Amino acid sequence: MKDIFCKIIDGEIPSTRVYEDDDVLAILDISQITRGHTLVMPKQHYDSLLSCPKEILTKVMMIAQRIGQAEVSILGAKGVNYLANCGEAAGQTVPHFHVHVIPRYVAGEGGFRLEMKSQDTSKMNLPMLAKEIGDALK
Ligand code: 5GP
Repeated sequence: MKDIFCKIIDGEIPSTRVYEDDDVLAILDISQITRGHTLVMPKQHYDSLLSCPKEILTKVMMIAQRIGQAEVSILGAKGVNYLANCGEAAGQTVPHFHVHVIPRYVAGEGGFRLEMKSQDTSKMNLPMLAKEIGDALK
């Protein structure tokens, strides 16, 4: 079954389109947690950023960068958050890779607050952890 973004891409569901080319679509998020909140996605279906091929990922991120720049220069945003939830455990609700581009006008405004609480690292072996992740990149 098609996910909701595939239906939007195919024109079966309306959306407010910001940008479109052969590979990439950008639409306003229906929720608008701040004014100009945009979703950038590949037209081809990938479940998340994790499974997106690098050529397409590059195209998506280049458009996301341009949209963030426009939010600053045209909408007057003072900053921009980029967010890509990957998987349900990370809060992804639509299983089609997308990047949120969220303009920020005033610190702490709107329906979005990024709060990173540190865990106790005393029981984590950080050098081992770094090696485990790093070895996977070789
Ligand atoms: P996620 O939680 O997967 O990172 O983000 C999904 C986003 O898609 C949410 O911010 C939600 O508001 C948005 N969304 C869900 N359904 C629609 C829709 O039909 N149209 C648009 N434009 N956005 C949608």
